[in-house]
Amino acid sequence: MSKITKVVARQVFDSRGNPTIEAEVFCKNLSASSICPSGASTGTYEAYEKRDKSNKKYLGKSVLVPVQFINSVISKKLKNLNIHDQERIDHVLIKLDGTKQKKKIGANAILSISMAAKKLSAKIKKIPLYKNFLIKNNYKLPFPMMNIINGGAHANNGLRIQEFMIRPDKAKTFSEAVRVCFLVINNLRKLIKKLGHSTSVGDEGGFAPMISDNESALKLIVKAINISGFKNGKDVSICLDVAANELIKNNKYSIHSKKFISVDQSIKKYLYLINKYKIKSIEDPFGESDWKAWSNFLSKSSNKIQIVGDDLFVTNLERLKVGFLNVSANSILIKLNQIGTVTETLEVIKFAQLIGFKTIISHRSGDSEDTFIADLAVGTNSNQIKTGSLARSERVAKYNQLLRIEEDLGKSAKMNKI
Ligand code: PGA
Ligand code: ZN
Repeated sequence: MSKITKVVARQVFDSRGNPTIEAEVFCKNLSASSICPSGASTGTYEAYEKRDKSNKKYLGKSVLVPVQFINSVISKKLKNLNIHDQERIDHVLIKLDGTKQKKKIGANAILSISMAAKKLSAKIKKIPLYKNFLIKNNYKLPFPMMNIINGGAHANNGLRIQEFMIRPDKAKTFSEAVRVCFLVINNLRKLIKKLGHSTSVGDEGGFAPMISDNESALKLIVKAINISGFKNGKDVSICLDVAANELIKNNKYSIHSKKFISVDQSIKKYLYLINKYKIKSIEDPFGESDWKAWSNFLSKSSNKIQIVGDDLFVTNLERLKVGFLNVSANSILIKLNQIGTVTETLEVIKFAQLIGFKTIISHRSGDSEDTFIADLAVGTNSNQIKTGSLARSERVAKYNQLLRIEEDLGKSAKMNKI
């Protein structure tokens, strides 16, 4: 048995330049560290992110108080625990916090330790991280959903929909999947340039051209897919994250234009877009409390497309159960920091797979060089991963790690089912 000897935390910075926590867990002279990501379009029911609101030196965004708490109280509390007993480590942290949304210690403090412990356990076992989760053989690579046009809270171009993604549905290997996306992205860059728009990128590495209507973005993507020699809806599918929580007022939505319209009208417009642009997946089409709108949309789309709950489920088992009973979606986005521990994340993934939901592992818009989620996707047999575009190293790092895992698996590497 390897016992934890100490935990050391420090304040580092995420991809948006905001302070975040890195925790390093030690067993004698061996250690592993992990960095907590941070969202922009966060759901109300997510676990709490603790920051030093009154510290004006960092505009209220520093994490020096939780860092200090890890270095003193938490380090002592975890001392002598078995590094391979992830559940016990996580439960000690959950109990020490004692609140439903991890408000006392902060999910950012808890998660950075939880992920670091998982990494150190793999290191001590001398196995790659992806082999230290649920799956023990027949590993499969997830399909990437690359976010190639950024809008919503991730850019300042006025685009209503937050994420326009592509998924290379026919790729037989992960490296082929990346190559397909690479071609489409390069052709999209040329098209955007030709239109005279800037090819600078948003928070998740997708282009953020100054176009403000959804259909213009969709048309550009279809064109880029065609120029690359692929068929839209067959070789490559368009997937969206609407992040509709940000677009709601008095039960009405401004998804399709600045105008607020009813749920029924919004659904009609969705069905038109799905049909016209062969869209295969829509995430957060409605608000986080609008269960009725979700189930209405799911039945009207005849369960033919992937409908993904992000802010709706917030990687929370209780909310997923409600969603299942309400027949509101058929897939779940998995974000570790929405719930705050590796153990609880794995419980949600197991339940989701049990009820036939697709699991999609996700980054956050504020992320880091940490590639934990790439290993998590393979180690849990998750169908897809969304971790931005082929731009910004914190996004590309996850795809690169999946390329390494594919190489490590050699001939046995297979792509997952979409
Ligand atoms: P976030 O965006 O990290 O800003 O929440 C990602 C998403 O909504 O899926
Ligand atoms: Zn989302």
